[in-house]
Amino acid sequence: MMPAAPIMNTQETTLQSNANLYAVLASGFPADRQAIAIQTPERDYSWDDIDRSSARMANVLSSLGVAPGERIAVQVQKSPEALMLYLASLRAGLVYLPLNTAYHEAEVAYFLGDAEPAVVVCDSANQDWVQRIADQAGAAHVLTLDADGTGTLADAAVAQPGQFDIVARAPDDLAAILYTSGTTGRSKGAMLSHANLAANALTLKDYWGWRPDDVLLHMLPIFHIHGLFVASHGALLAGARMIWLPKLNVDQALHYLPECTMMMGVPTYYVRLLADPRFTREVCANMRLFISGSAPLLSETFRQFQQRSGMTILERYGMSETGMIASNPYDPALGDRIAGTVGPALPGESVRVVDDADQPVATGRTGHVQVRGPNVFAGYWRMPEKTREEFTTDGWFRTGDLGMLGGEGTPDHYLSIVGRSKDLIISGGYNVYPKEIELVIDAMPGVRESAVIGVPHADFGEAVVALVVPLPGATLDINGILAGLKPVLANFKLPKSIHTIDALPRNTMGKVQKNVLRQQYQGSLADRQ
Ligand code: AMP
Repeated sequence: MMPAAPIMNTQETTLQSNANLYAVLASGFPADRQAIAIQTPERDYSWDDIDRSSARMANVLSSLGVAPGERIAVQVQKSPEALMLYLASLRAGLVYLPLNTAYHEAEVAYFLGDAEPAVVVCDSANQDWVQRIADQAGAAHVLTLDADGTGTLADAAVAQPGQFDIVARAPDDLAAILYTSGTTGRSKGAMLSHANLAANALTLKDYWGWRPDDVLLHMLPIFHIHGLFVASHGALLAGARMIWLPKLNVDQALHYLPECTMMMGVPTYYVRLLADPRFTREVCANMRLFISGSAPLLSETFRQFQQRSGMTILERYGMSETGMIASNPYDPALGDRIAGTVGPALPGESVRVVDDADQPVATGRTGHVQVRGPNVFAGYWRMPEKTREEFTTDGWFRTGDLGMLGGEGTPDHYLSIVGRSKDLIISGGYNVYPKEIELVIDAMPGVRESAVIGVPHADFGEAVVALVVPLPGATLDINGILAGLKPVLANFKLPKSIHTIDALPRNTMGKVQKNVLRQQYQGSLADRQ
């Protein structure tokens, strides 16, 4: 769609009539469009660059005839241009489907088959196999975008105008689908609307006190809610500068931290910073906030960090389906940041902890964490039954996490995450679903069955461990199992150790008792780096 006349993000009108998330984010861009919005070690990008480049890409997408509401699947390296592609997709009214760069062909083929995107954008190095599976999934267009911002998307964008009329979206129209996987082995696409994402971004802007003079150290991947939504939305909406690094690199982090005011990371990032003696109070002199999430932050890390830097990490909790749910306070008037807790429910959201019958349990007791609020997703893509199962009849979403309100000297409105009723393993901040690995191992010759668990690991938080039961008379080769997993699973999902055992422990209902296995193997990798 070509604009009749140039429109430069006229938020005064678009905000009232258009719930498009881009309009909400751009309302926070600063008046000085030449100011630096994104800084990389190679170059700076102004707010004007973000606006014009995303407009050019949006023009490319609509010139392909892709209609609002159609999906765009994106598996590319992190770059400022990749963020602009996300913004372009919002502007064009498309539904953005980010894919982990570690996914192999078989994994991506499932997502394309399920989401049926009209456009796929990939790294040029993967173009051959992506084209093949995109054809199979009926995706009409494959474009490339490389880490340096070049590729067929950039080539097509050059010729396009730098203005684009933001496509009108209703609050409930979808902005993104995040695939979260599941313990059943089948990945589920969490459908997030423009209103879901806007509500969470606006809440966090106030709660974390985002300011235009903030400088965010952005080292997270942008195929995940943490880096794409929580971090990027926060900085864009605040009109704050981002220092944009492709991934965690301690040398670079130490170089840039002195000019930063905020950093977001998974717990592994904080463990890695602490492991470097150059990480000191001086390095943090300008910092106002370190935020941790996506996996539990050990109390030990929290305390070590406080001692070394004089700063108290703010731990928050959320998930793809809901955005952020709870957060320790930024404003001391709202309470302390307490180690081992994720703080109170965010303003505008409600959290409860219930028993198996969905009845609230007493404070200090463990139960299932449920959440309600404008941030909670619309359901799982093309899985109405799964969606129904995950909501109570009165509209609470079952997070699958086990938690506790209050307890042990903690205020009653503070939530602690105790474990996961879903079998999820979080290794280095990435989610690993045991079932997916078990299915591959179980299909190998000589294997009777397997169980995959997470065990404590000093560096990754949790590491994947596989326990494999051989068929009677069969001898299993551990290296052979690993070699069989490597071509089909992303590296972060590969077991750090594999053991053969005679039988899996089961309860009377025949369910494998993974808690027993976790206990048995919990010390096996604790000291590994
Ligand atoms: P994802 O959808 O990839 O963001 O993963 C969401 C899951 O990560 C949640 O359901 C929790 O199990 C876990 N998680 C996120 N933040 C925390 C936290 N601060 N402490 C413990 N677990 C967390």
